[in-house]
Amino acid sequence: MLNAKSQMLIVASHNFHKTEEIAAIVADHFAPITDLTQQPNPDDHPAPEETGNTFEANALIKALDASARFPDATILADDSGLEVDALAGAPGVYSARYAGKNATDADNRKHLLFALDGVANRSARFRCVLILVKNGKVLTTCDGSCEGSIATAESGNGGFGYDPLFIPEGYDESFGILPATTKNQLSHRGRALEKLKAWISTAPMDN
Ligand code: IMP
Repeated sequence: MLNAKSQMLIVASHNFHKTEEIAAIVADHFAPITDLTQQPNPDDHPAPEETGNTFEANALIKALDASARFPDATILADDSGLEVDALAGAPGVYSARYAGKNATDADNRKHLLFALDGVANRSARFRCVLILVKNGKVLTTCDGSCEGSIATAESGNGGFGYDPLFIPEGYDESFGILPATTKNQLSHRGRALEKLKAWISTAPMDN
């Protein structure tokens, strides 16, 4: 298996919320865990353009871009988003830019509430694809999803993105209110990371 704690991990992301959630779950497997904002000269490492039509394609773009920059490091890329059934799966891969190119999370949530105004079917899911890469070689790909529904108003300020609007199945409160530990157990990212940990436990040492 991968040597516990022996490998540094760079998360191919500029989103510290994602990095925090990932670090909370795989801290026993990698050290240190950093992201692109924490490297020397972070301005030299802008996010690549996400030109893919799927979460997997965009995760691969991020993974390979970061791996080319840091060939000696193990890289983990996460591409994720929200699929709303009444919107035919939108915003999907466009979740980060649903309200426009430079939209904030708050803009995107407002846009979503507007799009669902008066809509009774509010079922939705978060999806996440993780790709682990070293030196340009894909080691493994893992995915996870989390079913739930979109509230009619925001609640809480935990998490990020659409969390204040997303109520996971079986709960009455949004990810904005539920503790981070609960989100990490239920979430698309948490589930994908559990698969990653299972893969790590059987992976060859020299990966
Ligand atoms: P990405 O960084 O290109 O993968 O875009 C992900 C976008 O999907 C984020 O900007 C959020 O809008 C949304 N998203 C992904 N994961 C989560 C989550 O765990 N909570 C809330 N929103 C999320």
